Amino acid sequence: MSITAYRWLMNGVNEPLTRQEFAAEPAAGEVVVEVAGCGVCHTDLGFYYDGVRTNSQLPLALGHEISGRVVAAGAGAEKWQGKAVIIPAVIPCGECDLCKRGKGTICRSQKMPGNDIQGGFASHIVVPTRGLCPVDEKRLAAAGLQLADVSVVADAVTTPYQAVYQAQVTPGSLAIVIGVGGVGGYCVQMAGAFGAAVVAIDIDSDKLKTIAEYGAALTLNARELDGRAMKKAISAFAKENGLPTTEWFIFECSGTKPGQESAYGLMVHGATLSVVGFTMDKVEVRLSNLMAFHARALGNWGCLPDHYPAALDLVLEGRVELKSFIEQKPLAEINEVFAAVHEQKMQRRAILVP
Ligand SMILES: [Zn+2]
Ligand SMILES: [Zn+2]
Repeated sequence: MSITAYRWLMNGVNEPLTRQEFAAEPAAGEVVVEVAGCGVCHTDLGFYYDGVRTNSQLPLALGHEISGRVVAAGAGAEKWQGKAVIIPAVIPCGECDLCKRGKGTICRSQKMPGNDIQGGFASHIVVPTRGLCPVDEKRLAAAGLQLADVSVVADAVTTPYQAVYQAQVTPGSLAIVIGVGGVGGYCVQMAGAFGAAVVAIDIDSDKLKTIAEYGAALTLNARELDGRAMKKAISAFAKENGLPTTEWFIFECSGTKPGQESAYGLMVHGATLSVVGFTMDKVEVRLSNLMAFHARALGNWGCLPDHYPAALDLVLEGRVELKSFIEQKPLAEINEVFAAVHEQKMQRRAILVP
């Protein structure tokens, strides 16, 4: 059974996105998901404005933060029919050696919607069932959320989950998050949910004000303090509150050169520096600081689908707040919304709704 569907295609860097109709049909092991919402991510803008290459050739529908409902199922996928789901932003193959060793985020046969395959800025998307995260709609309603709202769990929430989990943030530790819009805002909440006292750093005082209400114990404006002053302020905060002055967990979520430089500069003995944001810009650092501080630097690409249910639980339990950080917009306005996000005219993460 094929379904008449449409998607918004990227044709070239900064060229208008155009609407294309297509027939959505699931092969064996695949489902057609009717998109409830698809979040607009920094990564989409990187493809669209900065010329970061997509793995699949253009034209391609972008969008990898997708929630929706299964409306058609291929052979072997029947049990998903009718279910509300979140589609992982990175879908590992599940069969290679890396996947079998639990390293699906680096699977070389992985599929990322809006990069390797057609993405979620569409009425429907065809995806494999592997890694789909079921959404309990009763709990969703009880939490005052719509299915479109939890689209951001697919990346903005789960990516920091993976970063915080992998860094082994423990209760009583001190975490620092640089860049608290989008992913970073959830990173603050996630580190808090894992028991850390969290310092939030940004250059936008409105974002700092918001995040102070949702888990940041200390906020610092990087426009007002240089690197040295920031480190001093955090050390003083740690001492006052009986928090460690070593082994800080630093999460760089701004995806900017100044943010990455600040993050590196905040390293202390035994620090863990997690690079969560992405930029094409290069930074100059003294790599030997890692050696001298016996510190470590970690990256992470997306999040293992195995972690999605736990991350979604934190949202449904109200331990990670979504509502104050998202805003639904009609998918038909995708060109205008991209421009607004690019020009930083939107305070909240945009979710495009077909
Ligand atoms: Zn993303
Ligand atoms: Zn694999």
